[in-house]
Amino acid sequence: MYIDTHTHIYLKDFDEDRKGIISECLDSGVNKLILPNIDKISIADVIKICEVYKNICYPMVGLHPCYIKESYEDDLEYLKPIIKSINTIAIGEIGIDLYWDKSNLEIQRKAFITQINWAKEFKLPIVIHARDSYNEIFEVLDQVNDEDLKGVFHCFSSSLKDADRILNYGGFKLGIGGVVTFKNSGLDKVVKNIDIKNIVLETDSPYLTPTPFRGTRNKSSYIPIIANKLSDIYEISSEEIGNITSKNAKEIFNI
Ligand SMILES: [Zn+2]
Repeated sequence: MYIDTHTHIYLKDFDEDRKGIISECLDSGVNKLILPNIDKISIADVIKICEVYKNICYPMVGLHPCYIKESYEDDLEYLKPIIKSINTIAIGEIGIDLYWDKSNLEIQRKAFITQINWAKEFKLPIVIHARDSYNEIFEVLDQVNDEDLKGVFHCFSSSLKDADRILNYGGFKLGIGGVVTFKNSGLDKVVKNIDIKNIVLETDSPYLTPTPFRGTRNKSSYIPIIANKLSDIYEISSEEIGNITSKNAKEIFNI
């Protein structure tokens, strides 16, 4: 039994065959999918799919750092009431991305802080997108962190030093996905030194497809490939990886 803690299955990439993709993932033992929102437009699809696939798909509400524009305050104002109107299980995905655009760091930071405050207000976990921005994220967390704040560093792919710093906050787990299967990522060596109790599984589908399917669309039924890789790293069975990481995910997301 596995949980995919991060999939964008609501995107157009899956419009043709979403039903088949979900039954395929149930067949492969992945029985819960957690959907991070990206912007003001996508939230309608997130909500719709979580209604159709109740008890399988669970929604997050958030404004992704790559979708933060000058009008971000309006977008945040639009999204905030939705947190209460649906059964949101987390605020996400939120954070800072300096890979695509460094020029708007200041508003990315502001939007990130606003959404962390939502999480505190509604007592929800956060799902953090950090790309080329670990130091900037740490700066924010050093300011706003309190012992109740919890969540996931989605697509963790940094150093052991950064992992330790994240885990020292106390409430965070690391989302591990396809990158751990990439030959030259080095992430397997970092993960080996992290206790499995701090790890949740994710695909980030349709992106970051694991080896040997790189170059094709990623899907939640590939979660067992990531579990198998972790099984090699930790030298415990994939089944145990599934049980432990599902328990970790349930602890964070309360599902
Ligand atoms: Zn994502």
